[in-house]
Amino acid sequence: MTDFSLNLNEDQLQIQKWVHDFAEGVIRPAAHEWDEREEFPWPVVQEAAQIGLYGVDFLMTAFGDENGLTLPVAVEELFWGDAGIGMAIMGTALAAAGISGNGTPEQTMEWVPQCYGTADDVKLGAFCVSEPDAGSDVSSLRTKAVYDEANDEWVLNGTKAWITNGGIADIHVVVATVDPDLGSRGQASFVVPPGTKGLSQGQKYLKHGIRASHTAEVVLDDVRVPGRCLLGGKEKLDAKIARAKERLAGTGSATASDGGGKQPAMATFEATRPAVGAQALGIARAAYEYALEYAKERHAFGRPIIMNQSIAFKLANMITEIDASRLL
Ligand SMILES: Cc1cc2nc3c(=O)[nH]c(=O)nc-3n(C[C@H](O)[C@H](O)[C@H](O)COP(=O)(O)OP(=O)(O)OC[C@H]3O[C@@H](n4cnc5c(N)ncnc54)[C@H](O)[C@@H]3O)c2cc1C
Repeated sequence: MTDFSLNLNEDQLQIQKWVHDFAEGVIRPAAHEWDEREEFPWPVVQEAAQIGLYGVDFLMTAFGDENGLTLPVAVEELFWGDAGIGMAIMGTALAAAGISGNGTPEQTMEWVPQCYGTADDVKLGAFCVSEPDAGSDVSSLRTKAVYDEANDEWVLNGTKAWITNGGIADIHVVVATVDPDLGSRGQASFVVPPGTKGLSQGQKYLKHGIRASHTAEVVLDDVRVPGRCLLGGKEKLDAKIARAKERLAGTGSATASDGGGKQPAMATFEATRPAVGAQALGIARAAYEYALEYAKERHAFGRPIIMNQSIAFKLANMITEIDASRLL
């Protein structure tokens, strides 16, 4: 076993520089325009796809790396460029993680490439968990999935809220409840293929920040998907639900969330949360750098304001906390 180290290896250093150069040369110059327009920055994402930064290969490199630092390192640079465009480039990864975290290898091979498309024909994915009354509390989802055995189809009904790429994505991954009594253990994830009837975009949210990223409601009105779109397969879901029911009945005092089996939304969040921390880090680093430059160029009382101890201390505290956060 190799010793654990937080030092970046050669590959990671190269990726860090590559993404930083893209953030500086392509994202930063475009950021203001797309933030003002509050629209999905297609040309920038297409350019990211052309150089291989948006696509399955990069995702596999990032998720496949041994110590897990490649993805956070790349994400920090992207969000240093601009949070909205960074999110537009990274949003599909959440759907891809939802598929690979819950699906079979065959399902992953079928659907993840469809989330990204190709460099010449870019596609998007969306991961739909949150609902108006279920944000942090994922166990309270109300979107229902009912199995229609005669047609081997699942029927999805409900409304998802705050979904990145919601309604404009080609592939929507939807987490829904099959057995509400079992909380998150009674939930499953479904792929909704492109063009499926009954899925539509609800309101698009206007936000105070991250505005180049598209965030919207997703309405599911009798959405029918083939049985093979249940991630992980029916046999596995049936076994998971049976185990959860046994536990619940057996102990009497056990809560629904104690039941056996993987919770589909949590499995995805576990894989992607370090990258969410890195998003905040990139934003904080950019804010610090802007503040530092401003403090050096802004003059008051005949000298740059950074010459005042209170300003210099504030900046020193900012960079100390940013560096400490990165070590988390
Ligand atoms: C820009 C953006 C993009 C998003 N994209 C997606 C997406 O692609 N897919 C998706 O499914 N969702 C998405 N979301 C939704 C996001 O996942 C939820 O906003 C998040 O889960 C929090 O849920 P909530 O907003 O309902 O807050 P709540 O759950 O209502 O929480 C409100 C506050 O209470 C705190 N809190 C809640 N419970 C506890 C507790 N037990 N202990 C202590 N504190 C607690 C929370 O930390 C938070 O500060 C997105 C949100 C935003 C803003």
